[in-house]
Parts: sequence; structure tokens; C-alpha cells
Amino acid sequence: MNEPVAHRDFVRQIVEDDLRTGKWDGRIHTRFPPEPNGYLHIGHAKSICLNFGIAAEYGGKCNLRFDDTNPEKEDTEYVDSIMEDVRWLGFDWEDRLFYASDYFEQLYQWAETLIRLEKAYVCSLTLDEIRAGRGTPTEPGIASPWRSRTVDENLDLFRRMRAGEFPDGAHVLRAKIDMGHPHMLLRDPIMYRIRHAEHHRTGNQWCIYPTYDYAHGQSDSIEQITHSICTLEFENHRPLYDWYCQALGIHHPQQIEFNRLNLTYTMMSKRRLLELVKGNYVRGWDDPRIPTLRGLRRRGYTPEAIRAFCASVGVTKHNATMDMGVLENHIREDLNKRAERRMAVLDPVKVIITNYPEGQSEELPAVNNPEDAAAGTRSVPFSRELWIERDDFMVDPPKKFFRLAPGREVRLRWAYFITCTHIVQDSQGQVQEIHCTYDPATKGGDAPDGRKVKATLHWVSVPHAVTAEVRLYDHLFRTEDPDDVADPALDWKSNLNPNSLHTVSSAKLEPALGQAPQGARFQFERLGYFCVDADSTPERPVFNRTVTLKDQWAKEQVKS
Ligand code: ATP
Ligand code: MG
Repeated sequence: MNEPVAHRDFVRQIVEDDLRTGKWDGRIHTRFPPEPNGYLHIGHAKSICLNFGIAAEYGGKCNLRFDDTNPEKEDTEYVDSIMEDVRWLGFDWEDRLFYASDYFEQLYQWAETLIRLEKAYVCSLTLDEIRAGRGTPTEPGIASPWRSRTVDENLDLFRRMRAGEFPDGAHVLRAKIDMGHPHMLLRDPIMYRIRHAEHHRTGNQWCIYPTYDYAHGQSDSIEQITHSICTLEFENHRPLYDWYCQALGIHHPQQIEFNRLNLTYTMMSKRRLLELVKGNYVRGWDDPRIPTLRGLRRRGYTPEAIRAFCASVGVTKHNATMDMGVLENHIREDLNKRAERRMAVLDPVKVIITNYPEGQSEELPAVNNPEDAAAGTRSVPFSRELWIERDDFMVDPPKKFFRLAPGREVRLRWAYFITCTHIVQDSQGQVQEIHCTYDPATKGGDAPDGRKVKATLHWVSVPHAVTAEVRLYDHLFRTEDPDDVADPALDWKSNLNPNSLHTVSSAKLEPALGQAPQGARFQFERLGYFCVDADSTPERPVFNRTVTLKDQWAKEQVKS
């Protein structure tokens, strides 16, 4: 891929060291292991870019594996969406698509092996009793009364658990490690629980399911993974990851933990995203306000911008929260290069060019993208009646306002200089019409006598305009940290921004935008980058604002 390669972070350092020392016989094999219990978000993109990126950069392989050990929360809808999103982001697992559920039989056999080695036992305490017996970080746990069951007794009970003889919660299988271990997670952790639930792939074949900790490392091992890259919260699970591989004497990948991606004004928890979707706080998994890959895609983000962002965020050992503005800068940078410019007016007020003949119109050439000469030009119709932005005009402007005002001359982008001669207001003082004269000698936007104007406005010809719905977005949350709630009675949802979506129902667009297909991206001059929404039809075009321009236009104005 022709793009900036992520700099050499500590994970890549480990990979390079291993290649140098021949640790894995020169093999590099990573995996991206989502649980199919929700849609992927931008945090997952970081993990995808890291795992697939390392494989690509060092001649290795990366698997896609679904960690589907939790039947109640998982669904094929999520499996399908995850595959589509990984592909959309630009990565390919080739023929290496796996499911932890494919390993259920092997995992079960290994559990019997651990029982035979007296490293696992069936415990008949309740979950609450098990939890209470774990102790605290400073006090050792209490051994389960079932810890000394014989191998035969354990094998018999475990097989009957599998056979469906017991109700949910009657027994669990626990690893027999050390109830006094300083790591709480090593105090005889649960390996299997009884759950009479249908699984989206294995149906009713199983009524016992492995825990994440027991399934994950062994799945990595089965796939001959070399570097098992996961987020920092699994750091304290690593001794357990290592213990299972060692106890079973199987291929033992190296687990490496890196920092999660967090962004301001949003959140990356599948559980919470699910809550927003199911609770209709947003319009679905692809709502352009949420940080799912679906949402970002509908918002107009490109895979290239997301990959460039992921390459820039840093892979470290410290969790931090990144400014949302960093992500936005990446999409701006990408779209600046490739989005064609168009003119659109979001809050229209009418300009009448009184010295322009009635019924006449002309086509004026406009540059499609000043950053890309190959993008060429298009023609934009100009006529006697035009729409401009209401806030580009002031009846009584303050000193710093350089745009249109009575008696003032400004440039219309790609067209002419106009001078305001008269205004028509309604009884409330609201401007209805702005009457102007144009100077035919300034065609194209330059005065032959060299006179200057201080502003350039975008505009759309009234009889040629296409009316569209335009959706403008603000942050999903009002606070940088959604958990920043002052009132303990309220939860994170109380910080949702009630104004995160603002719908403009009749924006006026230049006619070339009327035919734009869904997903097409443009810069609306001075307003930002926009894309055609999935709801758009030729009769009723709908656009999303991907991101604002910031001060880019200010710079262009100085140049022009
Ligand atoms: P969530 O907390 O959103 O539910 P998860 O970690 O439970 O996420 P998984 O499906 O288990 O979701 O994630 C698959 C992979 O993506 C894991 O390796 C996980 O570490 C990684 N991942 C998830 N969220 C982030 C994040 N915010 N930043 C970086 N990597 C992430
Ligand atoms: Mg997880």
C-alpha cells in the first residue's frame, strides 16, 4: 500500500528482534480476534492496522479469528459486518478465517488433559461463593471444598456437564493453580461454565462454553500465532495465558499488550454503542455520529484517512485519550487532495443582479480541485437571481466584517464582482432580497483595473439550484469524557449532546451535485467536506457533512 508506514513502535521492535534472533524460525504470524458481539469501531481499526500492518511489513500472515465463546451476546449479523468492515478498511485475511468455536472440541480435549494432569477440577460452588473465596489482593483466597476431587470424579462430572446432565450454574471447571497466588486471576480461574444456550455457529451442540481466558490463548496456539497482540487491560491476564500453554505443553505465542485508542467527545465500548443503538439514541450502527467504522464510512471517512490516522496514533504502553481533532485532520488532509469543489448554500438569501438581463444565463468555468490539476473544470450556471449564505450579508456590519453589505463590493467565486445597491426587508427587518449590480468586466473573478475586494462568496443560481437535505454533525457528547458526570444519579448518557445532529432541510446546491451517487465526496466551498448519504435519492438528495474546513478558506482567500 502506498502510504506512510507506521514508525517503529515497541511492538515492531520486538518483531524485528525476533526476526534477527530467529526466535520463530523467521515466521511472523498475528491475528485480529474480535468477539462478534457488536460492530467494529475506530479502536478496532487501530488493532487491525497493527496486526495486519505488521504481517504485511515483515512478510508474515494475519488471521481473522472470531472469538465467539459467548453464545448469548453473539450473532451472525456481527460476524458479517466485521468481515465487511475489515475488507473496507483495506485488509485481507486470504484463506485464514477462523472461529474459536471451531476449536471447541480441541479445547474440550485439552481440558480433559488438564484434569488428568491434576491441573483442573470440577467445582460445585456457586459463582458468588467462588467470587467470595477468591480473597483480595492482600489476602489469599480460600480453597474450594471440591478442589481435591479425584481425576476420575472430575472426568466423570466434566463429561456429564458436557452431556447436558446439569442445569446452568451447577458446576464449573476450574484450573488448579494457586489460591494464594499474588495475581488474583491465577486463583483457580474458571475454564468452563454450563450454559444451555444456542450458539450462532454450533447451535445446540454444546451446553458448556470455555471462558475467554481459556479459549483465547489456546486458539492462538492452534493457529501457530507468534505475536498475540492485545490491549493493555490484558496485561494481568498474561501469566494465565502463559500458564495454560505451559501446562499443556503446546505452541506458546508471545502476548504483547499495547495502549487502547480513546478519543475525546466519544467512546469506544461495544456495550455502550449497543445501548445507544438499541435505545434509539442514534439511528443505527452506521449513524454518522458514532465512531463505528460503519458510522465513519457513512459520515464520509475514507479507509485511507483512517489508516493514516492509525499509523500516526502511536503504539505504546500508556493509555491516553487522543483529541478528536487529530482524526478530523486526517480526513481533511485526505479529502483536500481528492474531493472536488462544489458550491452549496446552506442558509439561503436571494441576491438579484439588477443589471443582468432577465431570462438570461451563462455557464462559467470553475476549477474542480486546485490541489489536483487532473480534476479539470466544470461549468456553473450564473443568472440574474442567486442564492448566497444569509450570514455573508449584514445590513449594518461591524468593522471586522468584510463580506457583503450595503454599498460594498465583493467577488462571487468564479463569476463577477457585485456591489450591493439596495435591500428589501420584511416587517421584522429580516432581509428578503439583496439587490446588486455586477461588473461585466470582472468575469472570472478579476478586475482588469486591478481593484481589490476583501471577500469572495460562494453562490448558487436560483433557477438552476438543486434543493437538498444536509445533515450537520457536532460531537456525540457534550463533554470530552462521557463519564464526566457531576450528578451521581446520572450516567454517561446524560452527557449525550442533544445538538449532535442539525438537519438543513432545503439547502441549495449547484446543479452538478444533483446527480452525485451515494458515497460521493465533495468539498462545499467554505463549508467543509460533504458526502452523499445512503438515504439520498435523485428526487431528494441528502448530504452529510464529514468535517468542517477550519480556516482553510481564509488561506485560499488570501491567495485568490
Ligand atoms: P469493547 O471494549 O469495545 O467491547 P473489546 O476489546 O471487547 O472492545 P474485541 O472484539 O474483543 O472488543 O476486540 C478485538 C480486538 O480489538 C482486541 O484485540 C482488542 O484488544 C482490540 N481493541 C478493542 N478496542 C480497542 C481500542 N479502543 N483500541 C485498540 N484496540 C482495541
Ligand atoms: Mg473483548
